[in-house]
Parts: sequence; C-alpha cells; structure tokens
Amino acid sequence: MHIDSQFDGGNITVLACEDPLNIQVAIQKDTESEFLQWFSFRLYAPKGTDIHINIINAHETSYTKGWINYKARYSYDEEIWRQADTDYDGGLHIKLTMEQDSVSIAYFAPYPLARHHQLIRWCQGQGATIRSLGKSIQGRSMDLIRTGTGPKQLWFIGRQHPGETMAEWWMEGFCEALFDPANPLSSSLRQEATLHIVPNMNPDGSFLGNLRCNAAGANLNREWKNPTQERSPEVLFVRNEMERTGVNFCLDIHGDESIPYNFFAGPEGIPAYNKTIERSYKNYTQYLLDRSPDFQTAYGYPKNLPGKANLAVCSNYIAEYFRCVAITVEQPFKDSDITPMPDVGWSPQRAKHFGAACLAACVPLLHDLD
Ligand code: ZN
Repeated sequence: MHIDSQFDGGNITVLACEDPLNIQVAIQKDTESEFLQWFSFRLYAPKGTDIHINIINAHETSYTKGWINYKARYSYDEEIWRQADTDYDGGLHIKLTMEQDSVSIAYFAPYPLARHHQLIRWCQGQGATIRSLGKSIQGRSMDLIRTGTGPKQLWFIGRQHPGETMAEWWMEGFCEALFDPANPLSSSLRQEATLHIVPNMNPDGSFLGNLRCNAAGANLNREWKNPTQERSPEVLFVRNEMERTGVNFCLDIHGDESIPYNFFAGPEGIPAYNKTIERSYKNYTQYLLDRSPDFQTAYGYPKNLPGKANLAVCSNYIAEYFRCVAITVEQPFKDSDITPMPDVGWSPQRAKHFGAACLAACVPLLHDLD
C-alpha cells in the first residue's frame, strides 16, 4: 500500500499506512499560515481491499463544522467524483472498498493547474483575448480571459481561496456557455458588454495544496484595500486592471465549508450602498433564482449591517470603490440540500451548470446597469 500527495494540489502527511483498516493521515497547514482543511492524495491498494482512513487532525482544522454531514470525494478517473462513506468524531473517517488498484481522495474534486491552462487555451481558440496581468509570488502567470465589445464592464474572478476548487469548475461552465457559438444569450451579452474573467486568482496556493492562502500566507480575500507586491501581487495586478477598465458588475466565486447551499454574500454593508445598487443586486438575485434551482436565498451568512462591511474583502471593496454591484458567490463543499444528489453531493458537473446559469442571469441585468 502507498499514498502519494506529491502532485499539483496534493496535501496529506502519512502517519501509518501498513494496515488498510487503520490508515492514519494528517492535513498539512497552508504555506506560512495556520489555516488547514484541504486534502488531496492518491492511494494505491489492490482492487477489492477494504480501506479505512482516519484524518486524525480533522478537529484541529479551520472549519470543524465543515465535517458535520460532510462526505469525502473519491474518484478512479478524476472526472467523476463520488461521495465516500464518511464519519466525523474528531477524526474524519473515510471508508471504501477499492474498485480499482488506485483511487484519488480529496476534500472536493481538484482542479489542477494543467486543466486551468487547457481552459485558457480553449478560450483562446474560441476567439477570446488572453492576457497575463503579472506574476504570482512564485512566478505563475495571472491569466485573464477577455471577450466582448460592449461598454459595460463585467468582471468574474474565482479561487482567491485555492482549496475552493468548485470556483474553477464554475468558471469552466461559465466559459463553455459564454463561448458556445450556438448560445444566443452569450452573443447578445458580448455585444453589450466586455467580460473580464480571472478563473484562478491564486495559482501558487492551488499548486501548494492550500485551502485559503497564497505562497506568502496571505488570505487574498482580505487584501483588497492595500494589496502589495510582496504579500499579495495577485490582487494588486487584478485590481490595477479593474481600475483601468472600470467595473459595472462583479462576481467573486467561492466555496463554503459549512453551509450546504449555494448563496450570495452581497454589498448591503458598504458605505456607498444606495437604491441603485440595491435594485441591481435584488434583480440579479431574482434572475438567478429564475434560472437555477440550485440557488436560494433562505440560507447564508448574516447580512452586514449598514456601513459595517469589511472593505478589505474583494466584493465589498469593488462595490464601494466602483459604486457597483459586486457579489461573493458561495457554493457548498457538502451537498445542495434543496437539490440533493447523495451519490455525488455538490460536484464539478453541477458547479459548471451553476456557472452557466450565473452567466445567463447577466443578460437581463445589463438593462439595469447604468
Ligand atoms: Zn472563499
């Protein structure tokens, strides 16, 4: 038996791997940080072997409520990811019977950098403009996809928190719908607006197998007020480009460890919140409710009180600075409890459909934006 995590996005420390019914592992902390939650590894054991893995430090992770009713994901082809028999009692216990001789196990379906580059190349082949806005701390390209010729500037960014891989699956579905030549919505959108897409805000953290941080230990979604070249160049370069183009609407795509629903965190708490922003925010919310049964508004974070929003958070900063609607979009690590699919939970395929629905909901919104 053998466990491998020495690959793009891998994260696990092996403590014991002799007895298949008593495999003990631990999640490693994010680089230069105390956050820990993301895990991803491959296990080799003969087909038919019963496996019992205990992640012994699950109770020391950043979001222990994330383990309640949570199911680890496993895959034999890294395309279809299913929910494993999983229990939490301070350790996270994952049980399965090997259907092949090796299996991939992760917190959520990984989205490797190789797939990211395939997505960028594919969009380029569909006619998109591709730009590198700068380099991450470890020298990885900050890739931007741009399309459309209209005056409204729409921004879509994902994966500031690299372990929230559903954000880049969302991006893949969003881009496939956007560049589908048979999609009449996207051609009208591209005539009326210019779309700027950063599918992966944190390539270093993605490669390093981090949940929330970049290579300097910075939580990028708290860096928007004062990003620096040393600590958060990823935010600095994207923010500079936003200042150059302006922003009329922005979605920042995330995943939430605890809440089993798709939901928005909106700009209600920014000092500049007004009737115009409120109307556009409410309208976009309704447009998405009309287009995605996986979206809901009953469950989410408590709303920020007026004027109390943290302006270091991306969507709050953008909404305040550009006087526009900017939304943090959260997807579940668990399942979507209003539309449960117990076999797979929330999944890459479902995140892709949700991304396409969020794109479709932008079309009626264009007429609200001034
Ligand atoms: Zn996040």
